[in-house]
Amino acid sequence: MTLHSPISLIRKLFSILYPPRCLCCGKLLPGESPLCPACSETWGGERKKAASPRADGVLYLAPYTKSRSVTRRLVLRAKNSNERRLYLFLAGELAKLLSQRSISADFVAGVPRSPSVVRNTGVDQSSLLARALAKTAGSRYINALKRRRKARVQKMLDAARRADNAALAYRLARKAGKHLAGRTVVLVDDVATTGSTFSACEKLLYHAGAARVFKVAVAATERTVYKN
Ligand SMILES: [Zn+2]
Repeated sequence: MTLHSPISLIRKLFSILYPPRCLCCGKLLPGESPLCPACSETWGGERKKAASPRADGVLYLAPYTKSRSVTRRLVLRAKNSNERRLYLFLAGELAKLLSQRSISADFVAGVPRSPSVVRNTGVDQSSLLARALAKTAGSRYINALKRRRKARVQKMLDAARRADNAALAYRLARKAGKHLAGRTVVLVDDVATTGSTFSACEKLLYHAGAARVFKVAVAATERTVYKN
């Protein structure tokens, strides 16, 4: 007879009551894997299409397309869910990307979302992603960037206005410089489109004294998509 600790018994009971489901399509899973075999295969194919790093240096896992891809579904789900399994899965994939490039970060920071969006969805996905990545990659999470209250939501603006708006939308957290001087920082966001948000936040981190900043996203569009 095997002896179970109370915690492992509770876990077992929980997994019987709430069996794990595929993070993308929601199908019941036989084991502990995050994606079902079909979604996992599609995700692998989408990952191969990533031309990472992008011309502006953004490292990413898979292209962000308008079609119903696994990538798009995972990103959209992360925007509205704070499910731990989802963030641990995405963080695990990002940690592999960093280790393939021998990037070891002292700190992981997230691109802050607009407080009104966070209020509506209840989810601040880049901070959740940054925290999960820091844990998975063995570095420290830092709340280095803040969103200015009156900034406009980026997706409502065209490319030229995005760059101006992004530069005004973020600021450094107080005392960020004390921790960041001479350090390597991984800056995380869920999706990179024009790259203007990333580049505004990257500038602030360098301004705070960071020695190196790596921009990392789950998904990225071709930069030209929004250039008109
Ligand atoms: Zn699936």
